[in-house]
Amino acid sequence: MSELETQVLIIGGGVLGTAIARELSRYKVDVTLVEKEVDFGWGSTKANMCIVCQGGDALEFRKEYHRSRLVWESIPLTEPLCRQLAVPFKRIGELTIFKDNEGMAKYQKLKTRAESLGITTHQFIDRDTLRQMEPNVTKEAIGALYDPMIAITDPVRLTMALAENARQNGVNILTGTEVLDISSGVDEFEVQTSQGSIKSKFIVNAAGMFVDKVAAMANADDFVVFPIKGYVGILDKKVGGLVEHEIHARPEAPGESNIITPTVYGNLIIGTPMKLARRNDYSTTRQMAEIGLRNAQKLVPDISEGDIINSFAGFLMFRNWELGWHECVVSPSRSVPRFISVSIGYPGVSAAPATGKKAVKLLTQEGLKLEENPNFNPYRKAITDFSKLSDEEKGALIAEDNRYGHVVCRCEMVTEGEVVEAIGRGATTLDGVKFRTRAGMGRCQGGFCSPRVISILARQLGIPEEEVTKKGGESRHLLYQSKQLLGVRE
Ligand SMILES: Cc1cc2nc3c(=O)[nH]c(=O)nc-3n(C[C@H](O)[C@H](O)[C@H](O)COP(=O)(O)OP(=O)(O)OC[C@H]3O[C@@H](n4cnc5c(N)ncnc54)[C@H](O)[C@@H]3O)c2cc1C
Repeated sequence: MSELETQVLIIGGGVLGTAIARELSRYKVDVTLVEKEVDFGWGSTKANMCIVCQGGDALEFRKEYHRSRLVWESIPLTEPLCRQLAVPFKRIGELTIFKDNEGMAKYQKLKTRAESLGITTHQFIDRDTLRQMEPNVTKEAIGALYDPMIAITDPVRLTMALAENARQNGVNILTGTEVLDISSGVDEFEVQTSQGSIKSKFIVNAAGMFVDKVAAMANADDFVVFPIKGYVGILDKKVGGLVEHEIHARPEAPGESNIITPTVYGNLIIGTPMKLARRNDYSTTRQMAEIGLRNAQKLVPDISEGDIINSFAGFLMFRNWELGWHECVVSPSRSVPRFISVSIGYPGVSAAPATGKKAVKLLTQEGLKLEENPNFNPYRKAITDFSKLSDEEKGALIAEDNRYGHVVCRCEMVTEGEVVEAIGRGATTLDGVKFRTRAGMGRCQGGFCSPRVISILARQLGIPEEEVTKKGGESRHLLYQSKQLLGVRE
């Protein structure tokens, strides 16, 4: 790319940037999205508890705040969106357990508030019903408030699907393109990126953890954000059956996070308290895992250390320290026209559908003229999930293309055919394949399948195996061919 011109430039391919791109693709407007990573959803969107706040949990976000309205407005939009994009969405329900009558009284208030807002699905369940619903939950619980509406999804797959569908509908998407500087002219911006310059009339800054840095490039830094780090631990599928609902308890100490939730794929996820931290420090420590495990064991005592198969950290950006969780940035700059910043610390995945619509509205208020795109196609076809097919379907598929007969990832039962499909949809790295197909997400965490996936990537992309990376940049798995290495040593 040398020099490119566009009407709207979206900076950031997380769940919010891609939701906005997909929403804009409903209109006849020239949109470009740039993402610094080689794929989508690898920022805050990746470190996630996967919960879609759909019921009483949305009540936690006080309605008077901006972000809360976006969560509320997204409630009716998320499930149909996931269906259109063939992304998993499962309503699992939440059980907020309590250990005494005092705890129960607190939840009575929540239930009453929910009912005053027309949410009548909450019900109290007693100890026996709780045991029947969740036999492995701590015996100390005397009951729970049951909210059947809470749902889960796969945030990265949703983000990749939004990007894919936006591209299908005409959005120009450039990965591996980092915005380095922005100068604001009278009626257009000139944006310097790692791949060349882009002229744009409007900018949507959805740079997640770097939303303030990107705003500062354009002198639109009329807000402050604080990075809060959170830890997520993934548990082996073999203990996936321990609970079926999201299990939650009021923290016993401030900042504690007592939550355990199933994923759409049958693992469980645990989290730890969020802490103010240095941006970009994605390290995870034994201490974080221990706290996460201890908290999870207060809910489900049978979970053990050996069940954690992977850990990672992510960042939430909060606008206002006083308001803590209760504010976000979804607003035009007060000083720079046609520049909108969009960042939701938590829960951005749950708020993404309405945020897409809100950003489009803000752009029109800033002067963008929109005309409907009659060719907009809201649907995206899923990549084949071989493991979910019936024996007849498997046989038919293998007869058509024998690559579906080669199992590449034994833990998750992913075939060569699916890996090739993922590459056809834009995967260029091991993680790109992993997030599209789950190859490498099982107990062995890619120990067996990585060499095979590397070979397939190299073959399909027409590059040497040593050039295949885990997630772009310098993250190569194979540094030398063994003969070369010997040569180096000689
Ligand atoms: C531990 C944890 C658990 C969470 N659990 C939940 C949950 O259960 N449910 C829920 O709804 N939410 C949850 N969240 C919150 C949710 O993950 C975020 O609100 C959401 O992902 C924010 O999305 P985003 O698009 O703003 O940011 P990001 O996903 O960070 O996207 C921003 C993108 O911008 C790119 N970028 C940055 N700078 C530049 C640049 N200069 N040029 C080009 N590109 C750039 C980045 O690479 C990144 O891909 C959780 C967050 C954490 C940390």
